[in-house]
Amino acid sequence: MKSLVLVNVTEPLVAEERNIPVAGPGEEVIKVIACGVCHSDIHVADGHFGGPLPIVLGHEVVGEHPELGRVLVYAPWGCRKPDCRQCAAGLEMICANSHEAGVVDDGGYQEYMRVPSRDYLFPIGDLDPVNTAPLACGGLTAFRATKRVLPHLAHKGATAVVIGAGGLGQFAVQFLKKLADVELTVLDMADDKLEAALKLGADHAVKKLPEGVRYDAIIDFVGANATLAVAGAHVQRQGIIAVVGLAGGRLEFGVGIIPSEAVLTSSIWGGLDELRELLDFVRAEGVEHLVETMPLADAQEALDRLRRGEIRGRVVLTV
Ligand SMILES: [Zn+2]
Ligand SMILES: [Zn+2]
Repeated sequence: MKSLVLVNVTEPLVAEERNIPVAGPGEEVIKVIACGVCHSDIHVADGHFGGPLPIVLGHEVVGEHPELGRVLVYAPWGCRKPDCRQCAAGLEMICANSHEAGVVDDGGYQEYMRVPSRDYLFPIGDLDPVNTAPLACGGLTAFRATKRVLPHLAHKGATAVVIGAGGLGQFAVQFLKKLADVELTVLDMADDKLEAALKLGADHAVKKLPEGVRYDAIIDFVGANATLAVAGAHVQRQGIIAVVGLAGGRLEFGVGIIPSEAVLTSSIWGGLDELRELLDFVRAEGVEHLVETMPLADAQEALDRLRRGEIRGRVVLTV
């Protein structure tokens, strides 16, 4: 089978002919149909995550399973030890000994993929494989972040802000508007993204939040110093800031520094139950997102284009 392999960080992927993996006890092997190209793939390719090499990238995978049919793969695999608090709760993406597909274990930039457990395979029925693949990371990450801020939006007149209206932000706009009765503002610098946010249901789309206005929930999909500063200046008392973006920004925290009892949290990928719930949501409500396809053989070009900022929405490799 064909595998696109990261042999050395910062070097182009290498096309290798490999044996089709064989399932060990409890494991499954699927035939990959579609694999999304996520921004984190660039971090892996650049060596920022320090995972083992060689590695096959790709953690947004839809494949064909001989008994289950088409499946979406839950990719943040944890240790699954009974004494692991996170794994016991189905929150394997926070497991201290996680071994994510496409980061630590081989992922979906190949024709067949080994999956450690059937629990990680979610049948998608007649959902479109290409559109469904990005739900495994992009969709799930936005879904968890949305769920985490919902308790702060349960009162009358609740307001929220999404910072960054790229792929994840656009998912979050749809989730927030469907799951909460909330007046939603989207903050971004790009006109086309603001326009997209309005189309997807945002009430306001702005390049700067109005002076002095505070919001019950702010999800920051950028996570830079500048965006966190905006979040800190605009969060309401007892509000919440959920940081998703990997930009590494910092925010000063303390009593009297941020509004009283405002909550600061990071939000990481998503849990097994959340992926199940997300698929139910998509079946019931549908979800809009921009997807283009490229063949598996062009995986390196897809990464290069993503790095150059030439991708609107998601590229999904078709296998
Ligand atoms: Zn664990
Ligand atoms: Zn990802």
